Amino acid sequence: MSLRSDTEDKSVSRPVSVVDAMGRPLHDLRISLLDQCNLRCPYCMPEAEFHADYEFLKRQQRLTYDEILRVAAGASSLGVSKIRLTGGEPLLDKKICDLVERIVMLPGVDDLALTTNGMLLSLFAEKLAAAGLHRVTVSLDSIDKDIFRKMSGGRGDLRKVLAGIKAAEEAGLGPIKINVVVQKGVNDHAVLDLLEHFRGTGTIVRLIEFMDVGNRNGWQMNQVVPSHVLLESIQRRWAVRPVDQNYTGEVARRYEYVDGGGEIGFISSVTEPFCGDCSRARLSADGMLYTCLFANQGTDLRESLRNGADDDELRDILSSIWLQRADRYSELRRPEMAEHHVLRKVEMYRMGG
Ligand code: SAM
Ligand code: SF4
Ligand code: SF4
Repeated sequence: MSLRSDTEDKSVSRPVSVVDAMGRPLHDLRISLLDQCNLRCPYCMPEAEFHADYEFLKRQQRLTYDEILRVAAGASSLGVSKIRLTGGEPLLDKKICDLVERIVMLPGVDDLALTTNGMLLSLFAEKLAAAGLHRVTVSLDSIDKDIFRKMSGGRGDLRKVLAGIKAAEEAGLGPIKINVVVQKGVNDHAVLDLLEHFRGTGTIVRLIEFMDVGNRNGWQMNQVVPSHVLLESIQRRWAVRPVDQNYTGEVARRYEYVDGGGEIGFISSVTEPFCGDCSRARLSADGMLYTCLFANQGTDLRESLRNGADDDELRDILSSIWLQRADRYSELRRPEMAEHHVLRKVEMYRMGG
């Protein structure tokens, strides 16, 4: 595969887009701003491992905003139009609005979003909107305060998250999406209550199958609640119907309440993998570029940036990484592929979810 001209679309200032070894374009970039977090969701950063003495990245190990901007600009020149800021918890980065202001100015970037646990969102919502952020996704695993507290490692405060969602809506950062990681026996029995809470509010709930990201969450297939099981229980309560994809590569399968109560998304990366359309690259806080959420290795861009690579060289590095990409982990995931699961993967809090 090679570079492809995009000249037929005059509204797009980027001259070329790049497709990988399986014909997938590079459209999305997820940028993890830092690896620290104020919560300890057991499926992501279990407290026992991420304790008070755990060594997170030091400031000088993390990319600077200038460095992030250079990677984002290189990626947008190769076709990236959607950028998401994530972490760790991105709102622990107090200067995030300065970065938002700069990324949103990049030519070709028409969608800038943020994924947050919402704990600090009410403090940031207005400033983020003023800086030019387009959308917010808030992770909230339950509307039951006890379940939520447990799923946030005893640190989450439901009232703060709900206040954050409201503040984001009022600031014009909607429609807000809510990410819910569903785990059997932990929060699956309370999913309908969460849907009920957000029905009719314009907020879109997305139910995510618990994934085997990283090596530390003790993932087992029997903890996954397949999306079709959730859909069946939703259908017993409400009439819902499928809705068309918004765009190619959208990861959520969308449904809407027939009575106009809004939209529900299903992200079924375990039971219905969507690698065929996957157009995402991920930049970690320390400058590693990964081409799959389940990657066990990436490319060190920080080294190139700090060794003086100019913009053309950086762009060549990015395009050669993408041209070689053949990842399709979720499609290859099979319970019987035991050797696949012993591969060490990079943790999600580090790579950026
Ligand atoms: N701290 C922010 C938050 O929680 O929204 C951003 C980073 S977090 C790693 C990004 C997303 O990854 C969250 O929605 C979280 O629920 C999801 N996530 C983390 N571990 C997961 C897992 N094992 N399976 C599915 N989703 C997971
Ligand atoms: Fe923190 Fe988000 Fe991971 Fe929870 S999912 S521990 S909030 S990074
Ligand atoms: Fe994309 Fe990798 Fe997930 Fe497949 S497994 S959808 S290639 S991130």
